[in-house]
Amino acid sequence: MWTQAELTSQLCALGIRHGDSLLVISSLRSLGEIGCGASGVLSALLEAVGPGGNLLFPAFTLSNVIAPPEIGAEMSFADERLASALMTTFEAELTPVDTHLVGILPEIARRHPDAHRSRHPLYSFVALGDDAEFFVRSAPHHYPFGSESPLAKLFQKDGSVILLGTDYSTNIALHLAEIWARVPYTRRSQTYRSSAQRTCEMIGAPGCRAGFARLEPLMANSRLQRNGTVAAAKCRLFAMRMAISLATAYLEGEPSGLLCRNPECQRCVAARKLCGSDNSQSNELQ
Ligand SMILES: [Zn+2]
Repeated sequence: MWTQAELTSQLCALGIRHGDSLLVISSLRSLGEIGCGASGVLSALLEAVGPGGNLLFPAFTLSNVIAPPEIGAEMSFADERLASALMTTFEAELTPVDTHLVGILPEIARRHPDAHRSRHPLYSFVALGDDAEFFVRSAPHHYPFGSESPLAKLFQKDGSVILLGTDYSTNIALHLAEIWARVPYTRRSQTYRSSAQRTCEMIGAPGCRAGFARLEPLMANSRLQRNGTVAAAKCRLFAMRMAISLATAYLEGEPSGLLCRNPECQRCVAARKLCGSDNSQSNELQ
């Protein structure tokens, strides 16, 4: 059983410093038995970044999705002001996070009295800290992980990412690199139902992340990633700018490089075709 103070010191030993802005991608179950509970884990993270630091959590809500991301749809961009109004302040504050997607910790963070949440109807983020409002303000409806998104603002703030007991397939930060590297497959549409029961479409939906693990050896070889343990969880910590710079350069050389090689994965098979890569050849390489 671990205390909150022990978790804080383990997070600091991993490399988290006071004043850091930190995207937390987490699996609470991976921590094992912890005496301080989920709220104690959140408190330990807040203590690790200290006053002046910020925490950012994915707070996705995909229960209203009608159709999964589809590549190649032809449609014009909707009015961005209309799109941002689709999730009202009321919903942003009260709609629970889909915890089966992103774990329980973002939901604990959402209930914190100082939490701010971006207004995206599907891919919102929760932020805590002095700059919380900066991270969630004016989140784009289309390309929710692209420029001006909370991820782009983490890059701007020279923040870091911690994978707390999760592997690279949860590393949503890399979606920013896919967009900035202009890989051909990021123009996906996703259809969902708004709170007013309108059918809405969003461009720039994220795709499969199963292939993201391919970047980990590059991160390790470049010594850009710190590995450690918090409670029973294996953790990875890396600077957002370093990771995005490396991933963007990698994708510019190999646009299909972060797609998975599962022949059953229709999203990656379609995406690889757009990249001009031969799926059959890629499958042989598995
Ligand atoms: Zn895939």
